[in-house]
Amino acid sequence: MSLVRRDTAGQLHVEEASLAEIARQFGTPCYVYSRAALTAAYDGYRAALAGRDALICYAVKANSNLAILNVFARLGAGFDIVSGGELARVIKAGGDPAKVVFSGVGKSRHEMRAALEAGILCFNVESASELETLNEIAGSLGKRAPVSLRVNPNVDPKTHPYISTGLKTAKFGIPFAEALPLYRRARELPHLAVHGIDCHIGSQLLDPAPAAEAAAKILGLVDALAAEGIALSHIDVGGGMGIRYRDEAAPAATDYLAPLLKVLTGRTERLLFEPGRSLVGNAGLLLTRVEVLKHGEEKNFAVVDAAMNDLARPALYDAWHDMVKVGAGSTANGQKRYEIVGPICESGDFLGHDRDLDLAEGDLLAILSAGAYGMAMSSNYNTRPRAAEVLVDGATAHLVRRREEVAQLFALEAVLP
Ligand SMILES: *Cc1c(COP(=O)(O)O)cnc(C)c1O
Repeated sequence: MSLVRRDTAGQLHVEEASLAEIARQFGTPCYVYSRAALTAAYDGYRAALAGRDALICYAVKANSNLAILNVFARLGAGFDIVSGGELARVIKAGGDPAKVVFSGVGKSRHEMRAALEAGILCFNVESASELETLNEIAGSLGKRAPVSLRVNPNVDPKTHPYISTGLKTAKFGIPFAEALPLYRRARELPHLAVHGIDCHIGSQLLDPAPAAEAAAKILGLVDALAAEGIALSHIDVGGGMGIRYRDEAAPAATDYLAPLLKVLTGRTERLLFEPGRSLVGNAGLLLTRVEVLKHGEEKNFAVVDAAMNDLARPALYDAWHDMVKVGAGSTANGQKRYEIVGPICESGDFLGHDRDLDLAEGDLLAILSAGAYGMAMSSNYNTRPRAAEVLVDGATAHLVRRREEVAQLFALEAVLP
């Protein structure tokens, strides 16, 4: 399902809402999401997991807007968090703490305490040190902390090195060989309750084989633990399913999960999933306006009002995002090959290279596949207020985050007396 469609007049819409109208009402740059697309992505997982005891824990870091979390909470989702801040967001958005798993290599004592008090489902523990600290803090609160160990299966997910997490060289997880002794230790600690096992090998995975291979390795460990009397009640296979940005053969959830579920056939443990990108990535776009067209000696530049502070993925991973004009018709300029760049003082501030577009100054562009790791990774670099966010539901465009104002950006600062 494509997020955008053209009406009979050639104007681009998200659901029944006109993007030109959204730009007029809320300004640009502006992130625009679709409730129907979020729901469809979630339903894709639900259908793939029909008949299984499974919990889909949306990875909050992909897009943490309260309205998005609330859409998933209403659909019955759990949440995968990586900070105390994300826990606070989930609770504020109406999410159920009893469906929250807490991942991350560097949880602070303060965050552990908050999660224990909220009554989360499970801590995905990533080191021996974390296990000891969690036991101590749970003891001080008179509680038992539910734990999984995040095991590193040493499987190559064949993705971008910055988003590959399951290799021996990664900072994430517990080395495979150390998992068994650490589970034995966890069993001895009085304020821990061993519930499960977890792995997450990387992001934007297009080939389902590495995830199935990781699951098979994990199952070997689950059986070895059972033989020692450590029975786990859930297996968390992480997130990472890839999406189509350009021309990738991105799998449907059913196809991606099939080899994994085959490996897990007949298991009685509950299955947990932590998808982020695949639930939100293609449910959002970044709406921007062309400010200046500039013709250099070798390149044509279209300077737009969105920049790397709004969408960091091109600068960070050299990522591709498709771009389409919001309006219809051709201009006097004709089609040219453009560098689509932002106004920031960095040559790395680009949103797309070599785009063949027919543009005029003032035109609106939709930068697609921007729902995941877009707004969530945005910053105020160059003292740029962050974009507004809009969630479309049918014909209605709801403002779900106001555009920041410049005065807010330095409100916490002070000068010397
Ligand atoms: C980032 C992350 C996810 C989500 O990854 P996606 O590629 O967005 O699906 C899930 N689990 C953990 C532990 C993560 O760090």
